Amino acid sequence: MKIYNTLSKRKEEFVPIEEGKVRMYVCGPTVYNLIHIGNARPMIVFDTVRRYMEHKGYEVNYVSNFTDVDDKIIKAAIEEGVDASVISKRYIEECKKDMEALNVKPATTHPLATEEIPGMLDMISTLIEKGHAYVAEDGTVYFRTRSFKEYGKLSHKNLDDLQGGNRSLLVSGADQKEDPLDFVLWKPKKEGEPYWESAWCDGRPGWHIECSVMSKKYLGDEIDIHAGGEDLVFPHHENEIAQSEAANGKTFARYWMHNAFLNIDNKKMSKSLGNFFTVRDISEKYDLQVLRFFMLSAHYRSQLNFSADLMEAAKNGLDRIITSVENVKYLLDNASKVELTGEEKALLEEAKALEKKFDEAMDDDFNTAHAISAIFELVKLANTKAVPESSKEFLQGLLDEIRLLSNICGLIVDKKEEMLDGDIEALIEERQAARKDKNFQRADEIRNLLLEKGIVLEDTREGVKWKRA
Ligand code: AMP
Ligand code: ZN
Repeated sequence: MKIYNTLSKRKEEFVPIEEGKVRMYVCGPTVYNLIHIGNARPMIVFDTVRRYMEHKGYEVNYVSNFTDVDDKIIKAAIEEGVDASVISKRYIEECKKDMEALNVKPATTHPLATEEIPGMLDMISTLIEKGHAYVAEDGTVYFRTRSFKEYGKLSHKNLDDLQGGNRSLLVSGADQKEDPLDFVLWKPKKEGEPYWESAWCDGRPGWHIECSVMSKKYLGDEIDIHAGGEDLVFPHHENEIAQSEAANGKTFARYWMHNAFLNIDNKKMSKSLGNFFTVRDISEKYDLQVLRFFMLSAHYRSQLNFSADLMEAAKNGLDRIITSVENVKYLLDNASKVELTGEEKALLEEAKALEKKFDEAMDDDFNTAHAISAIFELVKLANTKAVPESSKEFLQGLLDEIRLLSNICGLIVDKKEEMLDGDIEALIEERQAARKDKNFQRADEIRNLLLEKGIVLEDTREGVKWKRA
């Protein structure tokens, strides 16, 4: 399996630190409003990386944070006249709903910045002790960038270039810094802002320290993969490397993966241009599986342009797979022959060869665009070779193969079956009867069965009511 490493600017064979295990950290969103479709790109892409690695047999420890203390959150809280935690909690919940609808698996751990302050204070103290950080007069703690000799190795920037020519690349800062390149680890509180006590001042962390600390706590000093959008390469990831490697004395992450940006109508997404969509906006028009399919139809390191036409094309593509699955399922339900014929055996071998093609595309730096074309070839094979005379074994084999590859991409290709009102009511009656007989096991079974089909029961004084979730 080859991964393009931003650090070396080339594809490298993936060798995990510990055999059979992957330690992976993905920078998560700042939670001050609903996530937009750009934020969804790294979520979908790296969830697919995780799923493929799990398919290959790796045990993946996947950590992704929520940045829940930040200027934008504080600003939103002031505007609404509520505590910052009200804003962050609300949007974490909303983000989790979007992730579920996008079929993004929950991380092994989703740490929150505000719950990891003690670890941040520890790491900052270590950096001060080792001479990599210093405390300014007002209690701000800065990282001494030039003390970390390898600074710039990820973004391939040279310290002197940063200092000289291109001022836009300078890390913003105050005049109390020893050097304009130094960045904030801890800053004093401002009136009305959340703060924590520290040896230097009452205040809050700079943005970069949280990821260094959470990664260390949940994955160890050295990890396999660190990922996020390409805008994070500099300064965020560069600063994370400086903090972690200076504090721990070890290589922070072996592979750095970055997804390219998602644009709208070939322009950068921006609120002011009005070309800005949240994931929730898209869900009003499309099943979010279509958005997932759309994202995976391009390689993650290619810029991707969002447009109505491309979404329609994605919808048609996904529908083709879903329809094929429906057909094969129908044929399977009605098939009478059981055993494979010689010809069918050869066709299932063709299907296996397409699985290999899929794997080869994914092994080549997760080329989901090529992997999806292998799924389409499989669909074509199913559409032409699955017939009413086919054997059950053959049809099941085809179905398993399409489901397997789609599932690695996190695509749900089985249509949700809608239950008819009459069937729901019959089950509710059966549940009532079971309860009367004190057969609570059966009653629970029925409730869960309905829940699986998206039917929620509510026991009220006027009897049982139900609704579709
Ligand atoms: P933020 O909340 O801005 O820190 O972003 C969360 C994640 O979304 C980061 O990995 C960003 O790099 C990524 N991201 C933000 N905007 C876009 C975009 N337009 N396209 C792709 N990724 C993005
Ligand atoms: Zn981060």
